[in-house]
Amino acid sequence: MVGAGLAGLSAATRLADAGCDVHVVEAAGHAGGRLATERIDGFVVDRGFQVLNTGYPRVADLDLDALELGWFLTGARIWVDGRSSAVVDPRSRPASLPRTATAPIGSLREKAALVAFSLRAGYLPVPRLLAAPERTAAEALQRAGLGGTVLDRFLRPFLAGVLLEDRLETSSRYLDLLWRSFVRGRIGLPTRGMQSVGEQLAGRLPAGALHLDCPVTAVTGAGVQTGAGRIAADAVVVATDPTTAAGLVPGLTASAPRQVTTHLHVLPGSPWDEALLVLGRPGGQLVNSAVLTDAQPRYGPDGRALVASSTLAPTWEADVREEIARAHGVAPADLAHLTSVTVPHAQPAAVPPLQLRRGVDLGDGLFVCGDHRDTPSIQGAMAGGARTARAVLRRLRPSAGSGPTLGP
Ligand SMILES: Cc1cc2nc3c(=O)[nH]c(=O)nc-3n(C[C@H](O)[C@H](O)[C@H](O)COP(=O)(O)OP(=O)(O)OC[C@H]3O[C@@H](n4cnc5c(N)ncnc54)[C@H](O)[C@@H]3O)c2cc1C
Repeated sequence: MVGAGLAGLSAATRLADAGCDVHVVEAAGHAGGRLATERIDGFVVDRGFQVLNTGYPRVADLDLDALELGWFLTGARIWVDGRSSAVVDPRSRPASLPRTATAPIGSLREKAALVAFSLRAGYLPVPRLLAAPERTAAEALQRAGLGGTVLDRFLRPFLAGVLLEDRLETSSRYLDLLWRSFVRGRIGLPTRGMQSVGEQLAGRLPAGALHLDCPVTAVTGAGVQTGAGRIAADAVVVATDPTTAAGLVPGLTASAPRQVTTHLHVLPGSPWDEALLVLGRPGGQLVNSAVLTDAQPRYGPDGRALVASSTLAPTWEADVREEIARAHGVAPADLAHLTSVTVPHAQPAAVPPLQLRRGVDLGDGLFVCGDHRDTPSIQGAMAGGARTARAVLRRLRPSAGSGPTLGP
């Protein structure tokens, strides 16, 4: 297995459970891939703002209790004419119904259309959702009666933060699947940061199966080349990021053009009394900003608030500090800058025609998996890993069990 992201780990744990002698060779010094976390001044800092959505079907593979998730409310806060309003799924907080019903996100008709869209995405069987004609997300929302104020003030900034694009050129099919997960699940942050999701999977591997700090430079279906030597194998799965996969496997086309910049700030305390994402305003640079410690207090060491604010285009902290302060109703001077990160290849694009479940068996013992073969998400990576494990087992059996050997 080349790569210890969620795709590689999902495949590797399944193969190990099936009795295969699996080795995961990872270039970085940690498991989890794009789910990466560091500690800065006692704060838990993820590499870019990410959340775990429990509406993803493959979350069933995780031990959520062990992750000790802290929760955001499902919804978002918007600013209109200098006033902030909360739009909260009343199922997660019934008392929020009156203020959500009166929030300035559009006409009653648009609000009814949003409910109808959510019911459809959340509860229609997936095959029926996928049978609908494919359009861009923008076209689909327009046709669903969601092309006006509700789009500009709520849906576009909300979706831009997830899709990492604000033209809504993403496939309506991916939009349906994504919205389904929001309707069916909750949004949380693990106590020890998003990296702990990958580390939980890595912890299920047999001792000695994970090789960190070991970049692979070449692959065939019979083995991989690393700086430490060649590893022979009966099957090789390339579970790297798309760009590396395309470099390692001739003829493979894959890319992750979506990028995001996230600025982290510290406030003396949270300005809010509930954990809600704050959406960027139309015309601004911010797509969203969140007080992470409102959802997961363990992201901070001492009760101070940790704020993550994201822009699609790379930005300097100084250029967005005022906008971030306005998002939370605080003075710019209150924000102490902790760090900023630009993640260039954050996600593949999921534009029409959406290719769900792209082939993973390349023949001659070589396999490929990752979010670029399914959907650009935690769900896509994990589902792709599971699918690839099945494909490997189909090929290896009955010879499963003959493991790799290290050679020069
Ligand atoms: C900032 C950001 C925010 C996101 N937000 C969300 C979100 O809120 N919800 C959501 O569902 N998804 C989100 N995503 C997307 C999600 O994180 C990814 O889709 C998913 O983690 C991809 O997993 P993967 O296993 O396919 O790839 P990766 O995580 O990229 O794993 C590939 C692994 O291969 C390793 N590797 C690369 N080259 C080599 C080599 N030569 N040799 C050995 N190993 C190598 C890498 O180091 C890495 O560990 C976000 C991504 C980012 C970056």
